[in-house]
Amino acid sequence: MLTVESIPELRIIRASLPFPVGLVPTMGFLHDGHLSLVRKAADECASIVVSIFVNPTQFGPQEDFGSYPRDIPEDLKLLESIGVDLVWIPDTEEIYPTDFQTWVEVDKLSRYLEGKMRPGHFRGVATVVTKLFTAVQPDKAYFGQKDAQQSVIIKRLVRDLNLPVEIVICPIQREEDGLAMSSRNIYLTLEQRKAAVVLYKSLKAAETAFHQDQKDADKLREVMLEILNDEPLAEVQYVSCADRETLEEQDGVIQSALLSMAVKFGRTRLIDNLVIGK
Ligand code: AMP
Repeated sequence: MLTVESIPELRIIRASLPFPVGLVPTMGFLHDGHLSLVRKAADECASIVVSIFVNPTQFGPQEDFGSYPRDIPEDLKLLESIGVDLVWIPDTEEIYPTDFQTWVEVDKLSRYLEGKMRPGHFRGVATVVTKLFTAVQPDKAYFGQKDAQQSVIIKRLVRDLNLPVEIVICPIQREEDGLAMSSRNIYLTLEQRKAAVVLYKSLKAAETAFHQDQKDADKLREVMLEILNDEPLAEVQYVSCADRETLEEQDGVIQSALLSMAVKFGRTRLIDNLVIGK
């Protein structure tokens, strides 16, 4: 396994990698969620590139960029053990040289859900992902359903800009009690960690209600909210029952939906989602 920092070095090694090349973009502090993406890439591609970059432009001024967990030596060990060919760990200057002023924005899809709560977040994501794609030129790129809105936005970005990369979305990996794996789970106290299972519980309750013929979007949001509000440590930022493609909030009777939410436990903000219907 090779590790590179600069784009020129990356390009030289990339040129020698057998087709097809799969890219897994990450911010590091890897867990089984990330590794499931790498394993999927290994199933489908002859070469695997993983990028590790904590992207400053997708964090708001009050968010956790400075304290975001990092452990490059451990990440490299994990990636080597599953047969990754190349790890790209750029520094901030490599991605954002002085006087950087070119941004990629997926306009409408970025306004809802996470985008509403985190202004500028998806501009940062879309810009860095475009840069990762142009530098690595992967044939396929792997993202997690954990970040459902991000997946929709990246697919749209690739379509709108005709980028020659196939986007593969992989299922959410969860802990045994249902909590979605996340690098941020490490911030939770023991008490908060136990309480955090309420996100998945509320999603599953809404799913059950849907299967028992509760097809009203408002009612499904209520089902989730009720369960979340029952947990004193949970501070709900939003619950949503949105259209899976447009991400617009739904009203009335629905056939399918992206159920999602953001909930704070102390200073730690967790997100989760579940797709219902066809
Ligand atoms: P991050 O390092 O948080 O930027 O995540 C890198 C990639 O891993 C993104 O495409 C995430 O959606 C994906 N990912 C993070 N957590 C999970 C999870 N629990 N299950 C599946 N994919 C995940």
